[in-house]
Amino acid sequence: MTNGLRLVLFGPPGAGKGTQTRLVSDDLDVQPISTGDLFRSNLEKQTPLGIKASEYMTQGILVPDEVTIDIVLDRVMSIHSDDGFILDGFPRNTAQANALDEALGRRSRPLDLVISIDVPEEEVVSRLSGRVVCRSCQTPYTLAGNGQESERRCDRCGGELYQRDDDNPDAVRKRLEVYQSETLPLLDYYRERGVLVEISGVDTVENVNNQIMALIQRVSKPQDKE
Ligand code: AMP
Repeated sequence: MTNGLRLVLFGPPGAGKGTQTRLVSDDLDVQPISTGDLFRSNLEKQTPLGIKASEYMTQGILVPDEVTIDIVLDRVMSIHSDDGFILDGFPRNTAQANALDEALGRRSRPLDLVISIDVPEEEVVSRLSGRVVCRSCQTPYTLAGNGQESERRCDRCGGELYQRDDDNPDAVRKRLEVYQSETLPLLDYYRERGVLVEISGVDTVENVNNQIMALIQRVSKPQDKE
C-alpha cells in the first residue's frame, strides 16, 4: 500500500480518468478529487457554485479560474500533508497548474506523478455518446446500445443513470477543442518537471489500471511501502 501519493490523472474527456481515479483511490485509500464531480454534485444540490459552473459546463468550456482554483486548492490543502490525493480534471490550464505547484510547494510536497491517459479523438467521441453516469455517485457506465438498459441503476449505489448535458455532440466537440488549446500544453509543463508518464487508454479498464498501479509502485518511496 502506498501512503501519501500525490497523483494527477490527465487526459481528454472520456479517457477513463474518472473510472481509474475511483479504482486507484479505493485501492490505495487516497482521496479522489474530481472537479467535474464537484461541480455536478453542487448542481444537483442547486448551490450557487453548481449553478454558476453549469453555465460553462453545458457549453463545454472551462469554468473560470477565479471559481475553480480556490475550491480545488481548499480541498487539496484540507488533506493532511502526509496523506495522498488523486486529481481528476485539475489542472486544466497553466494558471491552475502554477497555482497547484505553488500550494504544494508551500508544504514541500510536490506532485509525485502525472499520468496522461491518451485516447484518440474518434474514440473519445464514440465513448462519450454511449456514456451515462450515476446522478448520486457519478460513476460512469457505457451503454451497450441495445435499448434494453433504460431501467438500469448504478451498480455502486443504486442511483439513477443519466446522460450528461455536456456529452452531446456540440459540447463534446467544444470540450475537445478546449482540451487541445488549453489543457494539452500542460504535457510539456509536467514533462519538463520530470513527473509525466504517458500511457495508452485504448485498452480494457483492467489493463489500464494495471499500468497505472505499476507506475505508482515505481514512484513509491521505500518508507511508504508496508
Ligand atoms: P469533466 O467531468 O472532467 O469532464 O468536467 C466537466 C466540465 O466541468 C468541464 O467541461 C468544465 O466545464 C468543468 N471543469 C472540470 N474541471 C475543470 C477545471 N479544472 N477547470 C475549469 N473547468 C473545469
